[in-house]
Amino acid sequence: MEVNYTTLSIEKKSLDRPPLEELAKVLNKGLQSNFEHVTVEVVDCPDLTQQPFTLAKKGLGGSPKLVEVGGVPYLLPLVKREKVYDLKKIATMIGSDPAFIIGAGAGPHPYAGVNCEGILNMNIAKGVVDQQTRISKVNPSNEEVPIQEILPNNETRVALLANLFFSSGEPGKVLKIHAKKRTGPLDFIASIRQTLVNEYKNKVVGLGGAFLLKEGKAKQHVMRDFSKTPINTDEELNNWLKFYNMRAPLVAVGTLINNDHGLDLRVQHFHSFSHHGEAGHYHIDVTPETAEYLGYFNTGEEIYRVDRPVETHQFGRD
Ligand SMILES: [Zn+2]
Repeated sequence: MEVNYTTLSIEKKSLDRPPLEELAKVLNKGLQSNFEHVTVEVVDCPDLTQQPFTLAKKGLGGSPKLVEVGGVPYLLPLVKREKVYDLKKIATMIGSDPAFIIGAGAGPHPYAGVNCEGILNMNIAKGVVDQQTRISKVNPSNEEVPIQEILPNNETRVALLANLFFSSGEPGKVLKIHAKKRTGPLDFIASIRQTLVNEYKNKVVGLGGAFLLKEGKAKQHVMRDFSKTPINTDEELNNWLKFYNMRAPLVAVGTLINNDHGLDLRVQHFHSFSHHGEAGHYHIDVTPETAEYLGYFNTGEEIYRVDRPVETHQFGRD
């Protein structure tokens, strides 16, 4: 149960890369529409393998790229179970080695036995995998507590859809974004994205990286097992998803982009994991007074669109 790699479509487009210093300036101003305390600066990437991030590699540098695989149309209205992708093969196909891969996607249902969230975090170097990806499932016997588990090194697949940031994981300059006390309606990622939408009308800027929700709680969902009846509306979708308020500290990974780039993109997508068992798809904090975020991001040089759905729709992309 996997896609046919010989016929898999892969499109590639370049991205604009404003200098990080310029982005820091733009974001310092823009994020103030949604947060009371904002500091954005350019720093040497801290060692992201350390607590609290515990990612598979230290940095976000070295041929950084956004990679979007599949899409929501492979999940809704009904699942296309054959849409399973081995990231080891995708990394080879796009010439990424070493490939430090972080991001948000659907976990490998053939491994999990059910549909699940994937919080991607792995390194593949010369075929050797260091897999630190978590998956999160709804526990059918107690839906209030999701089940998080870590994938083994020999399981490198995602299913259906994924928004990934590839780099070689090298140290280097990154954007450090610290924001505290949310005063506006947008979540942390949407506020970054909206700032880039407003500033760069004729450029396409994509970011990938990781952020920590240091304080507070976040609304996150975990997908239940595949629906046997078609899901055609946002209301049906929200009844199928299981929503949680998950508590900090949460480590989120994913991508955002200011513009669709004519590639039918999901313009922001972050999943988070934790060391206390909770993991899922990030929507927004539910504790604006105490919410505190710390993120590290790099710009992508290009975007790869893998197996873009031919028949598409716009719902379910929140
Ligand atoms: Zn998601």
